[in-house]
Amino acid sequence: MNSTIVPRKIEIGGKGQVKKLTLGGSSPILLQTMWKESLLGADLNYIAKSLNEFEQLGCDLVRFAVPDMDSAEQFVKLTRLTPMPLVADIHFDYKLALRCMDGDTAKIRINPGNIGSKERTQAVIQKAKDTGTVIRIGVNSGSLPSALKKQIEEMKVKQNLSMDKKAFEDEISALRAGALTEAAAQELEIFEKANFKNAVVSMKASNVWETVRANEIFAKKFDNPLHLGVTEAGPLIQGIVKSTIAFYRLLEQNIGSTIRVSLSDSCENEIIAGREILAECGKRQGGIRLVSCPRCGRKGFDVQGFVKRWQTKLLSEKKDISIAVMGCVVNGPGEGKHADLGVTGAEDSVIIFKHGEIIKRLDLKNLTEEEKIEAVDKAFNEELQSL
Ligand code: SF4
Repeated sequence: MNSTIVPRKIEIGGKGQVKKLTLGGSSPILLQTMWKESLLGADLNYIAKSLNEFEQLGCDLVRFAVPDMDSAEQFVKLTRLTPMPLVADIHFDYKLALRCMDGDTAKIRINPGNIGSKERTQAVIQKAKDTGTVIRIGVNSGSLPSALKKQIEEMKVKQNLSMDKKAFEDEISALRAGALTEAAAQELEIFEKANFKNAVVSMKASNVWETVRANEIFAKKFDNPLHLGVTEAGPLIQGIVKSTIAFYRLLEQNIGSTIRVSLSDSCENEIIAGREILAECGKRQGGIRLVSCPRCGRKGFDVQGFVKRWQTKLLSEKKDISIAVMGCVVNGPGEGKHADLGVTGAEDSVIIFKHGEIIKRLDLKNLTEEEKIEAVDKAFNEELQSL
């Protein structure tokens, strides 16, 4: 039986020209990434253009690190240059949060534990109320309150005396997950007492099961929407694997209102990974579904090269269609026929299928590599545009 609480609905964005979204309730799960560069001295128009491309790929929210007042000034300006709802990520200095809320800011992410006195948190809450800004209370396993850390250390010593290694590690992971939830609950109390309703919570650990457990415990007790993420998840492959496992486990229990796949890689790959996870978990519909074969030693055409050239463009298309890209005739015609648009290699030629019918056969025999690419891309693009 699913005993998680349906998260409360919160409106986000909508100031100035910023897009208005809802999170929580039965709203679609929002997809987030985080800008990888400093805002200091950055070309804001270039960033705004990139945010537009992120939106095309399916991104709903973008977070920026705001470590100093100059970055806060840049952030405020940026909020007025883009319809993308922006999130300011603030640590230590509450004045940065106050300044960021002067812009068309959608959300502030703070860790009240490192902001200092309760009065400072109160000042942030008051301004968020006045400006209609959402606050994400972010708790990471690396920044637990010292009392909870001490408790864990004491338990570790006690348990290590009598348990085998695996049971011991499981127990510690459960303890840390409980401590993460406890830390979030303690912070949340300040917001609830101030009658602040627009609080989103995140509890992140770099350990998948700790993240899963903490969110499961929280979702049974509180109705604040949860932002999901596995912190410092790692490079592209490791990060996607960890995030997929954690998110699948949580999303299937209807836990999570926003997600970010944290990667030591590009924002675009974070977005693409996130949207694929949401689509495979049945949480996001529409857009192009891309099927491609892994390619092998059989003579055909360069599937990887084609997918690399086309992936970003295809994933930015709003068409609700399937596309199959296959290397040779072993599986190519079968997949090609099932897709709305299919491309398959066949010895020295390439066949293009549309709605199950062969509509083009390109003879590439006497062409250079560049000419082959040009011929395939041109024919494919013509058919894509006509769908
Ligand atoms: S479709 Fe052909 S090229 Fe692609 S993996 Fe299958 S057999 Fe290999």
